[in-house]
Amino acid sequence: MDFTNIEIGDAYRTESEKRRAIWVFRIVTKPFLVRIGKIFLKIALFLRIPIKPFTNFMFKHFCGGENLHEVLSLSERLGKYNVKTIPDYSIEGAADEKSFKNLIREVKRVIDLAADNKNIPFAVFKPTGLISAEFLEQETPANHPSVDKYKKRLDEVFSYAKIKGVRVLVDAEDYKYQTRIDEVLLDFMHKYNKDKSIVFTTLQMYRHDRLDYLRFLIDFAKREQIKIGVKFVRGAYMEKERERAKQGNYPDPIYPTKQDTDEAFDNAIALSIENVEHIEIFNGTHNEESVKKMISLMKTRQLSNDDERLWFSQLYGMRDNITFKLASEQYNVAKYVPYGPIKEVMPYLVRRAEENSSMSSQVGEELTKMRSM
Ligand SMILES: Cc1cc2nc3c(=O)[nH]c(=O)nc-3n(C[C@H](O)[C@H](O)[C@H](O)COP(=O)(O)OP(=O)(O)OC[C@H]3O[C@@H](n4cnc5c(N)ncnc54)[C@H](O)[C@@H]3O)c2cc1C
Repeated sequence: MDFTNIEIGDAYRTESEKRRAIWVFRIVTKPFLVRIGKIFLKIALFLRIPIKPFTNFMFKHFCGGENLHEVLSLSERLGKYNVKTIPDYSIEGAADEKSFKNLIREVKRVIDLAADNKNIPFAVFKPTGLISAEFLEQETPANHPSVDKYKKRLDEVFSYAKIKGVRVLVDAEDYKYQTRIDEVLLDFMHKYNKDKSIVFTTLQMYRHDRLDYLRFLIDFAKREQIKIGVKFVRGAYMEKERERAKQGNYPDPIYPTKQDTDEAFDNAIALSIENVEHIEIFNGTHNEESVKKMISLMKTRQLSNDDERLWFSQLYGMRDNITFKLASEQYNVAKYVPYGPIKEVMPYLVRRAEENSSMSSQVGEELTKMRSM
């Protein structure tokens, strides 16, 4: 599989979108500009200066719009190239009753759409959108007064998804929340993943305990005769986690080197393909080698490109050359498309700018090719 053809991923863009993409890549390949932009944003948000005029071009490149309606029209454009869309309501940090209800309503709207629309294969949400961070940090919350309330909220989403036959991805966030999330998702996978995966957990493979956890999940699936659903990612919070471990004086949960993370990621995919009768795989990566390795394993096991248990995904605005090439060869591939009010989506946009700037050589290569087209 050759991912060098940038043109393939640019085909759906209008001329002005192509020009905007070039500008975005120009900016994010300069780490000092990203740092200055981040400081400016903090000040602007604090002083309540309108940020839209300054951030709109980034927002339009990395996000599907401010509401689901706009994402739907994008999904039709992507669908023409066999690229699916996962609408991701990307409000972060809100944790009151009103925002929990708001998120449940939004995820259920996506589930309704996904039930009838072949361009939308999954719904997704962040656990801190439905469970308060304070609760997730508890060491033993079994007797916490809110436990039933949180489970009820998650059940409202998963039971609805089960009725509609729609799969739901649950993102992974900070290390300190994940133990509680693992516990609760295991129960829900047991409840709803009998014949196919409805509930998907996320494993951040930069964590050195995740391969063991994957082995546990596979054994659990075999023993309980269920299908485990797993989204594999490397993990987006490395600097924060390392700093927190240092401050909190506990061992760093993340592998010491990128190579270790890469190996763990690829080993996890290999183990999962080996056990594909028990696990459905969602490979969320922009790493070409990891995509190629999974494809080669699929071929060895003679799994068809469009096997419903196997998915690839990239974030909207990133590595379109991978997404569109996979789609052109009939692999199941989807764009994660964040949406929501521009101000609320800012933490997501900042993460994307930082991530792209830390991969500046790869993005720079993409930029050079785009400029020469
Ligand atoms: C569809 C999709 C969904 C996602 N969902 C989530 C999610 O739910 N939760 C989440 O946390 N992230 C999520 N991410 C982001 C993901 O975790 C990565 O941050 C991002 O995709 C970059 O990793 P990569 O595999 O694409 O590529 P690469 O560029 O090959 O890998 C970069 C990653 O390697 C790891 N890394 C880099 N340097 C080191 C080092 N020195 N030591 C150890 N590890 C290192 C880090 O995880 C870094 O992000 C998602 C990504 C995609 C595409």
